[in-house]
Amino acid sequence: MGFTFVPEYYFRTFNEASADFLCKIGVKGIVLDVDNTLEPYENPLPGEHVKTWLSELKERGISAAIVSNNGGERINLFNSELGLPVYYKAKKPFKKNVLNAMREMGTDKSNTVLMGDQVFTDVWAAHNTGIRAILVPPIKDKTDVFTRFKRLLEKPILKKYKKLNPLK
Ligand SMILES: [Mg+2]
Repeated sequence: MGFTFVPEYYFRTFNEASADFLCKIGVKGIVLDVDNTLEPYENPLPGEHVKTWLSELKERGISAAIVSNNGGERINLFNSELGLPVYYKAKKPFKKNVLNAMREMGTDKSNTVLMGDQVFTDVWAAHNTGIRAILVPPIKDKTDVFTRFKRLLEKPILKKYKKLNPLK
C-alpha cells in the first residue's frame, strides 16, 4: 500500500467508476460511503443513477455494502430499496466495520475497494483495512470553516495522486 491518505483511484462522480472499470481492476466487492458520495445529505433516498449503477455492478458479479459514519435512521432509510449489507455509525477511519462488510460480501483485501468523498475518513479507512481506495469529490461541499480547512489539507494529497498517476 502506498501513501496513507492518497487514494489509488480518483473519479469526479461515483458512477465514473463503472462496472467495466471495477472488473478490470479485479474488484469483487465495493464498500460504499453514502453522504456526499452517492447522494448529498439532504437526499433521504438513492436516486435512479445510484440504482442503475448498483444494478450494473450486480450484473457483473460485484457486491456492494454500505459503511457509513452516519446514524441508523438515515442509513436504513437510504438502504430500504437497495437491501445492501449495511454498517452505520461505522467509526471510519477504523477498519472494524469495513472488515465486517467484507466478511458479509465474502470478499478479501485483494478484491475489495472502498469508495468515499473524505480523505481523512474514507481513504484512511481503506488503507487501515489494507484495501484500495476510490476518492470522489463531495457532491455538495459545506462551506464552514472546518470543512474549508479540511479541503486545504486535502490539496497536497490530490497533487500527490496526480503526480503518481499522470495518465489517469
Ligand atoms: Mg461522505
